[in-house]
Amino acid sequence: MKPGIYVHIPFCEQRCYYCAFTIAVSPDHTYEPYVRRIVREIEISQFIDEPETIFFGGGTPSIIKAEFLETILRALPGGGTGAKELSLEANPGTLPAENLKVYRDIGINRISLGAQSFNDRDLETAGRLHKSSDVIGDFESLRRFGFSNINIDLIAGLPNQTISGWSENLDWIGRLRPEHVSIYMLDEEENSAWGKKGGRTPIDEELVRFYTDATDRLGNLGYVHYEISNWALPGFECAHNLKYWTGVPYRSFGVSANSFDGQYRFWNSSSLKEYADMVDSGSLPIAGRELLTRQMRLDEAFLLGLRQTRGFNIWRVAEDLGIQYPSGWFAAIEEMQRAGWVEFDGGVLRLAPAGWLLAGSITEELLWPTLLSTLSTSEATP
Ligand code: SF4
Repeated sequence: MKPGIYVHIPFCEQRCYYCAFTIAVSPDHTYEPYVRRIVREIEISQFIDEPETIFFGGGTPSIIKAEFLETILRALPGGGTGAKELSLEANPGTLPAENLKVYRDIGINRISLGAQSFNDRDLETAGRLHKSSDVIGDFESLRRFGFSNINIDLIAGLPNQTISGWSENLDWIGRLRPEHVSIYMLDEEENSAWGKKGGRTPIDEELVRFYTDATDRLGNLGYVHYEISNWALPGFECAHNLKYWTGVPYRSFGVSANSFDGQYRFWNSSSLKEYADMVDSGSLPIAGRELLTRQMRLDEAFLLGLRQTRGFNIWRVAEDLGIQYPSGWFAAIEEMQRAGWVEFDGGVLRLAPAGWLLAGSITEELLWPTLLSTLSTSEATP
């Protein structure tokens, strides 16, 4: 299967209060040298596999000149022309018409709009620079320029967000009908401004209500809930993210970017200065690399498999990894099935709707201590 390519553009106009990503709030004149270094990194990597998907993420890739994205695309294997899905993350208020024209002309065919909320008070609380009217205006101009695959990102659980306020976000989804919706539950990231201050953790019961409301309403609007945080109109699932979730290799370029070659996972330096120094001296800016052990692959197969609402086949994982499930382990599955958290038909294991918000703890319980600690035992087999 063809790989995906991710390109990290770390620049943002300011740091949102909840954000803990590797980003840089730097002046415009720093963008061009960074783009030159990405092109150089691509050359040094000698990566030649033509990608099926390309994803410009960040940061806010839409704040750099659209022509810079074209420069990077042309440096990628195949010049970026053969990719079936070419996505760009964009913030509302950063999409002038002249950029949309360039995006369309260079083949970008999917835009992920970081709306986060349609409520101006929420946006201000979260440290976002845009207003709800920017989201609506940008969405309409994207449609005018012919973009027919748009994702809208929303955050549930912002401070002081009410259920009726949240519900208005879903009303807007019904009016605009983007092809894809991603909903993130606010989490207090340690390195975010809120995480450092403390005390912003949303209340669990409210999060459950926001999530259940979204699940019901989006389902009624015809969206398929295909991953815990993602919904798509049929045929508009994000092909790039599906590669991450199904273990397909991907190559990433840019500061702090992570790659997976099918065996090793490796990651670039998260320091812009170190990234620049390494690329300028002709080396790959790789800061670390690890071989995925059988234990790590098992961990990942369960974690990513359960996040997809269709689940995964446990016997295929057993065969791929050469493992055998201890017979006592099936009792844990039965118990979880009785509690209504998982569904298991003897082959495919998946989360039941009541388990979606508990994915992390359910996965942990399924893996520890029985499964991961008995990788080498020889009990139940397919
Ligand atoms: S949330 Fe997005 S726009 Fe805000 S600082 Fe982080 S990367 Fe930038």
